[in-house]
Amino acid sequence: HSLLVTRLANRVRATLGTELPIRTVFETSTVAGLAARLDGTAARVPLRRGVRPDRLPLSHGQRRLWFLSRLDGPAATYNLPLVLRITGNLDVAALCAAWHDVTTRQEALRTVFDADDAGPFAVIRPEAPAPERAVVAEPALAERVRDAVRYGFDLAAEAPARLSVFEVGRHDHVIVLLVHHIAGDGWSSAPLARDLRTAYEHRVRGTAPSWPDLPVQYADYALWQQETLGSAEDPDSPLAVQLAFWRTALAGLPDRLELPADRPRPAVATGLGDTLAFAFDAGLHREVLAVARAHGVTVFMVLQAALSALLTRVGAGTDIVLGAPVAGRHDDALDDVVGFFVSMLVLRTDTSGDPSFAELLARVRETDLAAYAHQDVPFELLVEHLAPARSAAHHPLFQVSLTLQSAPAGEFTLPGLTVVPQEASLGAARFDLSFGLQEHHENGDPAGISGLCEFSTDLFDPATAADLVTRWRRLLAAVLADPGTRIGAVELLDPAELRHVAIPPAPTRRGDLAGAWAAQVARTPDAVAVEDGGERLCYRELDRRAAVLAARLREAGAGPETAVGVLLGRSAAFVVAVLAVVRAGAAYVPIDVTQPPARTELMLRDTAAVAVVAGEDEAAGFGLPVITIADGEPMAGAVVRRPDSLAYVMYTSGSTGTPKGVAVTDQAVLDLAGDPAWRQGHAERVLQHASTAFDASTYELWVPLLTGGRIVVAPPGGLDAAVLRRTIGSQGITGLFVTAALFALIAEDDPAAFRGVREVWAGGEAVSPRAVRRVLDACPGIVVGNGYGPTETTTFATCHTTRGPVGEVFPIGAPLSGTAVRILDDRLRPVPPGAPGELYLAGTGLARGYFGQPGRTAERFIPDPFSPVPGGRLYRTGDRVRRRADGAIEFLGRFDQQVKIRGFRIEPGEVEAALRAHPRVQDAVVTLDGEGENKRL
Ligand code: AMP
Ligand code: MG
Repeated sequence: HSLLVTRLANRVRATLGTELPIRTVFETSTVAGLAARLDGTAARVPLRRGVRPDRLPLSHGQRRLWFLSRLDGPAATYNLPLVLRITGNLDVAALCAAWHDVTTRQEALRTVFDADDAGPFAVIRPEAPAPERAVVAEPALAERVRDAVRYGFDLAAEAPARLSVFEVGRHDHVIVLLVHHIAGDGWSSAPLARDLRTAYEHRVRGTAPSWPDLPVQYADYALWQQETLGSAEDPDSPLAVQLAFWRTALAGLPDRLELPADRPRPAVATGLGDTLAFAFDAGLHREVLAVARAHGVTVFMVLQAALSALLTRVGAGTDIVLGAPVAGRHDDALDDVVGFFVSMLVLRTDTSGDPSFAELLARVRETDLAAYAHQDVPFELLVEHLAPARSAAHHPLFQVSLTLQSAPAGEFTLPGLTVVPQEASLGAARFDLSFGLQEHHENGDPAGISGLCEFSTDLFDPATAADLVTRWRRLLAAVLADPGTRIGAVELLDPAELRHVAIPPAPTRRGDLAGAWAAQVARTPDAVAVEDGGERLCYRELDRRAAVLAARLREAGAGPETAVGVLLGRSAAFVVAVLAVVRAGAAYVPIDVTQPPARTELMLRDTAAVAVVAGEDEAAGFGLPVITIADGEPMAGAVVRRPDSLAYVMYTSGSTGTPKGVAVTDQAVLDLAGDPAWRQGHAERVLQHASTAFDASTYELWVPLLTGGRIVVAPPGGLDAAVLRRTIGSQGITGLFVTAALFALIAEDDPAAFRGVREVWAGGEAVSPRAVRRVLDACPGIVVGNGYGPTETTTFATCHTTRGPVGEVFPIGAPLSGTAVRILDDRLRPVPPGAPGELYLAGTGLARGYFGQPGRTAERFIPDPFSPVPGGRLYRTGDRVRRRADGAIEFLGRFDQQVKIRGFRIEPGEVEAALRAHPRVQDAVVTLDGEGENKRL
């Protein structure tokens, strides 16, 4: 592992006076080979005990922790606890004396931090406080230990280390050894354990430990660090050279990784966390080692590559950044010193292009070796100099860390006693996710890897963290068995999860529009079906008028699979016209009366319409028979319709190119109107106000008509809060749909305008949770619904209703009857629950496709690999969604729009590469951070 290589380099420097780059050892792993490659590069200044200035500097790492502690006040976040249960005849007095010996030997453990105008400085106290001692009854023990572990150090006033000794019984003690990170790290525990044991052995015998002085103390290191790194202002200094490397290596880094969190990220992270223990078994461990050896990489690199691949697969993108600790003990002299030397390396892995695992390992090896060669820049300086967008919501530069414990375990043993380490949870999380792993061996053979996952409880539930680990194990098993496997090809779900993805749509009643309409007329002949200003038509009369018009449409050639344009604004006449087209067996093409004639012409030509129904004053035109509504003889007999008859063709603007006519079947309309969502009396009086050419009109028309409700035509003109309030009051509207934009507008202006409505639906684009909250607050008893769906799936595909409360996201909910949802990745493979993916829709609610455009239809309507029946299709929505733990789907945004690239220096090639990696994206938004080195973009 890389730490061993670092130690080798340290030894070579100390012994031979020359530098040995880490990469050289990876390339040349024999002594003879290395000897040939040592080129005598002058070694840097060795670390020695020097003259102490009056004012002792902090190391860079210490400065950051000091700063954080000033910012947040005393907190347990950076505590390093060790809890030991000791059974046997513990000599408490000897232990306390030994603690005194250790803290005397290791200056870091008795250093406090003062500050003046010039910043913080270290003050080494002559001695550390004596241990805390208490007799604690077993029932109170857990709490005492917890309090001790979560102690908040005041770094300005007290030593950053404490020992607590709790006497539970005469031969039963628990000790808590707590060191603030500012004075220690993982690699400190071995010397600390060794010193404590040595001192205790002496003190038990009544002697003082006789150990040689440490070659250097932490303060010497802090001074040396300043001296050897030099200043960032001096371009030739090692610091400036290494910073330049990092600036390039981390250019364009995403602000943060998008992780499949259970909750939205709070604006300010609480720092609270929890842990989860896990293990990879000996078999997997053996394979990790075998693959590492075969590919010339470390065990860490194998685990890192697999974790990066996993994060990509769960939606974090293809630019994966992990933090990994490096020991930072750049000199042999530091081996026995307790202190904060560890630094975090930022390891950035490009997982794009769906590489094989072997290829990914090669990338990781390159990145890591380059990073190791520039590991002298302390993390905190990197943050300062790269100045990524700083935020209190997440850790800078990386949010996920990976540690493979290579520190020699600090085995705490005390002579004559049984010492058992206890779990000590801080309830804190420094990062969003940290994975700490440790290899185990038995007689030199791999015996498994144990792990601890620390996760931020701001974001994750324990079950989600456990799922991630399970999928990591599954991914590892697959790619280790065959490193040629592409990372996108690994199945991350178990069979039960896969079965869940293939859930078919809830069944609906088969039927056709003419039949369903006739049945409704028979059920409620005298109920008012449509109310338009002063005019009211009951179901029977509406049907009669439709039959009259249908007769004339038949004469004009309307029949099954023919189209009839309906060029009427919202009105009772529009309803008559639509029903007439249906009765004539044809399909209606609703046309917005306000749209340019050229577009109307295109739609009529495109659908090969046989006639146009229009108002009296509509100029005859478009080369088609124009039929106005007039009285006459009703159509004789009936034209048979079938579930798959063409009901209507509705045009979507289409963001690019020519409009597309979405061809919708009878069954799809029946599925929409038949959904139980409408069966709560809310469709009693539905406001018709949408443009007739907009798919919301399908809801406004067919939901009331097929449930015995009433269509209430809105007064002419636009809808605003005042009109709405008046119409609801005078017409007793019970249900309506408004676009998300209008909903938000009214919610801001006058949320009480919806008062009296039983159910208001918003949709068409993302619905603001704030708007929903305002409306719920202002309108007691109201139900607010989110209706989601493309025109291609008949207005609504999923919906969600609430009476409150509303969280940070207002979900789009669950599929309507007749619709099934699948959340898939680029390979049409289901993404893990909670991970973002593209929404695909299946079921009878799908349109046939684009009228007369098989090519464009085939681009978006594809075979459903999960269909329980042959011939099932999927519609690709282009929408990014994720499924929450409670099953509701959240809308995250659209695919295919933009890729954002930001950084301090951006090469033109990077932009091209980003666009290549996102073949469906059309725009790149480039942001230069800070001054920006190249403005030529
Ligand atoms: P259209 O086919 O014009 O109705 O547009 C459909 C698209 O509008 C969907 O693919 C979504 O991107 C967006 N959309 C529709 N309803 C919603 C909703 N309730 N929440 C978020 N986006 C929506
Ligand atoms: Mg829509």
